[in-house]
Amino acid sequence: MPLVSMRQLLDEAAKGGYGVGAFNVNDMEQIQAIMMAAKQTKSPVIVQASRGARAFAEDLYLFRLIQAAAELNPDIPIAMHQDHGNSFETCRSAIALGYTSVMMDGSLKEDGKTPSTFLENVEVTRKVVEYAHERGVTVEGEIGVLGGVEDGHGAGGTGLEHITDPDQAVEFAERTGVDALAIAIGTSHGAYKFTKKPDGSVLKMDVLIAIHKRLPHTHLVMHGSSSVPKELQDIVNQYGGKLKQTWGVPIEEIQLGIRNGVRKINVDTDNRLAITGAIRKVFAETPEKFDPRDYMKPAREAMAKVVAARMTEFGQAGHAGDYKPIPITEIAKGYADGSLDTRPSLAASR
Ligand SMILES: [Zn+2]
Repeated sequence: MPLVSMRQLLDEAAKGGYGVGAFNVNDMEQIQAIMMAAKQTKSPVIVQASRGARAFAEDLYLFRLIQAAAELNPDIPIAMHQDHGNSFETCRSAIALGYTSVMMDGSLKEDGKTPSTFLENVEVTRKVVEYAHERGVTVEGEIGVLGGVEDGHGAGGTGLEHITDPDQAVEFAERTGVDALAIAIGTSHGAYKFTKKPDGSVLKMDVLIAIHKRLPHTHLVMHGSSSVPKELQDIVNQYGGKLKQTWGVPIEEIQLGIRNGVRKINVDTDNRLAITGAIRKVFAETPEKFDPRDYMKPAREAMAKVVAARMTEFGQAGHAGDYKPIPITEIAKGYADGSLDTRPSLAASR
């Protein structure tokens, strides 16, 4: 199966009332782990690469691995997404490779650190939307600023400094025409999200619900949404790791989000923890081993287990066969004739 438009994948998720996990990849084993889980649970899936991942793996290695995953799994719809594009050029180069979706994170300036102004964000995102939609490629934007830093990207902070304002979210959607919108509701990137189990004072699900009510046609995206389960932290620490105890986003809060317009859920930290725990265990228990396969295989299996659990929890499990992929060229026509336009003023009248 060719790579699928993320827009189609999310539109189908909206119809079916489920969410789709977007899992970050840097190497072959992570891609294989995702595909093992997708096959086992019969799930459509979003695979995403950050700028850091593209630099680490080199663009062509990573993209060819994704193409291999698509060829080996003809029954699984896969969208390939650029996570946190920092500029038009980053998005353009991802589209040139064959990515079917890009995130233009204009909430930060091109340095990936400094919060930008609303108008700067609108301008760069609109430019990416025009370019991407002509080619049938999906665009995710971001309004408000997420907390934390990952892969050198992020403004830092707790995530509470720049909570998304619903009025601004509506204006942003109207002026850019993004397909999907990442909003800041108190989540952060990285392992250290919350210092206790989050409640409404730090995780603003009410803001998310308010935005969905006003933007029912724009797919919402939850970033920094690993659950960071204690079991995964414990395995790392039991075998010599030194993680401070921390709390992620509880699954039940993500499920509440899914009932209120969240269609894409970004998960990276949980998989990193699973991989690291599995490798540490092999090193600690059998220090005589030195064949990378002896620890990469259990690492891959540990990640596949976490991914399969999330696919089931998000509700995407069992939906891989629901629809036939629409070629990207057809999707481009839908953008051109306005039938895929999500701008609130237009979508409401359809
Ligand atoms: Zn993110």
